[in-house]
Amino acid sequence: MTTVILGSGIIGTTTAYYLAKAGEKVIVLDRQSDVALETSFANAGLIAPGHSYTWASPEAPWILLKSLVHGGQSLRLKLGTDWRMYAWCWEFLKNCTTEKALLNTGRKVRLAMYSQVQLNALMQAEQLDFQGASKGLLYLHRDRAALDRAVAAMTVLTDAGLELNVLHPQQIVQMEPALRSSADQLAGALYCPTDQTGDARLFTQALYERCIALGVEFRFNTKVLRIRAGDVVEAIETSDGTVVAERYVLAFGSYSPITARDLGYQLPIYPVKGYSATFPTHADHIPPTVGGVDEQNLIAWAPFEGRLRVTATAEFAGYDTTHSPGDFEHMIGAARRLFPQGADYSKPSFWAGLRPMTPNGTPLIGPTRHRNFFLNVGHGHLGWTWACGTAKIVSDFVQGRAPDIDLAGLTMM
Ligand SMILES: Cc1cc2nc3c(=O)[nH]c(=O)nc-3n(C[C@H](O)[C@H](O)[C@H](O)COP(=O)(O)OP(=O)(O)OC[C@H]3O[C@@H](n4cnc5c(N)ncnc54)[C@H](O)[C@@H]3O)c2cc1C
Repeated sequence: MTTVILGSGIIGTTTAYYLAKAGEKVIVLDRQSDVALETSFANAGLIAPGHSYTWASPEAPWILLKSLVHGGQSLRLKLGTDWRMYAWCWEFLKNCTTEKALLNTGRKVRLAMYSQVQLNALMQAEQLDFQGASKGLLYLHRDRAALDRAVAAMTVLTDAGLELNVLHPQQIVQMEPALRSSADQLAGALYCPTDQTGDARLFTQALYERCIALGVEFRFNTKVLRIRAGDVVEAIETSDGTVVAERYVLAFGSYSPITARDLGYQLPIYPVKGYSATFPTHADHIPPTVGGVDEQNLIAWAPFEGRLRVTATAEFAGYDTTHSPGDFEHMIGAARRLFPQGADYSKPSFWAGLRPMTPNGTPLIGPTRHRNFFLNVGHGHLGWTWACGTAKIVSDFVQGRAPDIDLAGLTMM
């Protein structure tokens, strides 16, 4: 039996790998000329169960309101005429209760921890080179009250079995000497020792090579125009002809809702734009060795070989992925203050991508009303973290096996 996977981002490629490894025949369709050229191209690189908190929290409506009134760099909302954005925001606001935030964060961290087990097994089996590091992640807080709130909030993660340690500034510097000159700006940090870093694009490219060796057929420069279906999906119409298979998996990231409308599904996914800047590092720099997040400025960073990546911003701007140097000033300023000698900040590579966000923060994975059509969509800000877990779950569903994780709240059925 043949399975067609729609999309060769990190999610589609990882799904192709698990299916091919299980002996399935797999075809992957993508409009781009290679894997991981859209949202999976230059994300922050954090594999971060320790950052599984849902964005829809009791504080979120006030943050949203403040950004509308005063503007802001971390959250930007461009008011326009896209009713889908308002519908998404309304659903988001409905998830901003304490009860729902705890429920959704609990689901997110459970999936993140399951995914990390799958990733580590895959790393051991395949020895992929994606400049990965297993040194934990630092979540920095700049004032005592914010640190106290973070310590109180972390129980939802520790109750799920995740280890989180509270560090004072001297301990932060011991762990990350590159923060020595900025330690006086910090009140403390949470440190998740099992969190990891790695370049998501390099991972996807390395996995693509394994997929090719396993016989997966990638059809690039192939735009999917329409899905044809009755009770089941019958065919995919593309810019390069019609493709027919027995089973289909949708993994189009932020574009998934557009394609799913052909089948009558209204997927609750909206693109939330983020920006990244990657700087070269040389022998005379002091780059960080551990990745992390500056929780006040909402800046994430990850060190790779000879590079430092910094990312920021959640912007509602539809499907626009353009950027200009001004979009990066805030994050470069924050990175310079944290790591004054961290990289050659004069030579940035700029990028912007669209997080496929659901209002409650959990992805949609598994079966649909069409019994030969499966979803692997809506990974939001955690697509790298969840890639291996969601791919394993979807490949189990496709092959008629029950996944070995509780999927409450993560499927459409
Ligand atoms: C700034 C930023 C920082 C991030 N940091 C992190 C992080 O640190 N950790 C983490 O876990 N996650 C992070 N993420 C999230 C993560 O990058 C995404 O969740 C993930 O890349 C989504 O992968 P995907 O495969 O679903 O989508 P994509 O990578 O966008 O892949 C979708 C594919 O579908 C194809 N496609 C779409 N429509 C069509 C069509 N009609 N025909 C043919 N092909 C089509 C596209 O070409 C694309 O290749 C970050 C995201 C951003 C933007």
